Amino acid sequence: MSATKNVLSKAPVSLATYRAAVVHEFGAPLVVDEVPKLALERGQIRVRVEATGLCHTDIHAAHGDWPVKPSPPFVPGHEGVGIVEELGAGVTEVALGERVAMPWLGYACGTCDYCVSGWETLCLEQKNMGYSIDGGLGEYATAFARYVVRVPDGIDPFDAAPLTCAGVTTYKAVKVAGTRPSDLVAVFGVGGLGHLAIQYAAIAGGRVVAIDLVDEKLELARELGAEFVVNAAKDDPVAAIQELGGADQAIALAVAPKAFEQAYGSLRRGGTLVFVALPAENTIHVPIFETVLNGITLVGSIVGTRTELREVFELHAAGKTRVIRETRPLSEINEAIADVERGRVPARIVFDPR
Ligand SMILES: [Zn+2]
Ligand SMILES: [Zn+2]
Repeated sequence: MSATKNVLSKAPVSLATYRAAVVHEFGAPLVVDEVPKLALERGQIRVRVEATGLCHTDIHAAHGDWPVKPSPPFVPGHEGVGIVEELGAGVTEVALGERVAMPWLGYACGTCDYCVSGWETLCLEQKNMGYSIDGGLGEYATAFARYVVRVPDGIDPFDAAPLTCAGVTTYKAVKVAGTRPSDLVAVFGVGGLGHLAIQYAAIAGGRVVAIDLVDEKLELARELGAEFVVNAAKDDPVAAIQELGGADQAIALAVAPKAFEQAYGSLRRGGTLVFVALPAENTIHVPIFETVLNGITLVGSIVGTRTELREVFELHAAGKTRVIRETRPLSEINEAIADVERGRVPARIVFDPR
């Protein structure tokens, strides 16, 4: 798949360039560089980016934290939203001038068992925006038309950006959790993902308990529909949630193995723990005996499909969700990363690349 090479690894075909935040070396600060605009390949589109959210995955990508690493230089970003400005050969899925979102699943084969059974997010041939395909943290991005999702009229692009990963990922996690009315849902971590998970769990009929280390985030959680909150820096969330009867489902969104273990401990018998966050430290301890006797389900959930992103946009257009975000210029990318790592961001940072 030559089409999915990183933009900087190929010779430019024209003198046109655009500004993007580039990872040149794992762990080093990103550099806002001029990068070449390459000719589109079959099935690709060029999008003028209006807004891009910063996801923790982008930070892990820039640090090379995970077993499967991107190859620098590359442009992170998988919450890019913008206007289609150029169509490659054979594109029929979108038209010029339409607003689209460019999610993590940037390309899949379309024919394997996973792709044809509604699990395209598990396709082994997949390419990911901001990881194996240059992403949305720039003035422009190139995407495969088949894997972008149209943003309905009336949705602010700065709201659409966080919904493109944080939204669809937590929406899917609640679906995977199987939340039903009156279930107690424990949401561990109230950030870019957690603030949306609370809302989707409530939409599904769940009663939500939110867990975080920062009081301001817990206040936000209450505003967004959490019935109970626990500050895990002050109180033991396992004891607090067991006192409520135990969680029917727990959704692990905090990037710390300890939070996963607490989420496990907070479950009631028959409960389900959904793994979503991807801490750099890759292991947790799970007791076998209690898992068997208590009939516990452990399940991993990775982003969501194009259909699920459409559903996320539909809910937002209907006024059912609120996106908490702050806008920053792309030149502040490194400060933004530092702020996210120190937990100083209320929910999502969204960049204005212009
Ligand atoms: Zn993400
Ligand atoms: Zn496939």
